[in-house]
Amino acid sequence: MFRFLVFITLIYVLYKAIKSVRQIKPAEDENYKSKSSSVVGEDLVEDPVCHTFVPVSQSFKREISGRNYYFCSKQCSDKYELEKYK
Ligand SMILES: [Zn+2]
Repeated sequence: MFRFLVFITLIYVLYKAIKSVRQIKPAEDENYKSKSSSVVGEDLVEDPVCHTFVPVSQSFKREISGRNYYFCSKQCSDKYELEKYK
């Protein structure tokens, strides 16, 4: 009888272990997918004022004397122009 109980416990523990492994794997895959999809296809540009890297779609674009500059915000672009034409 004791042996039978040990056997049942072992099966139960094994079943739990397999179940927990199966639950973790898809979650990791999803994390990986969402992470890579948000990074791929998005170029980062450096703000010349505060040196923050911002995605092009979220950057504040400004053309200054024929060149395109990307800033993290309007404040940074204003600051850049102020310093340039001081
Ligand atoms: Zn900035």
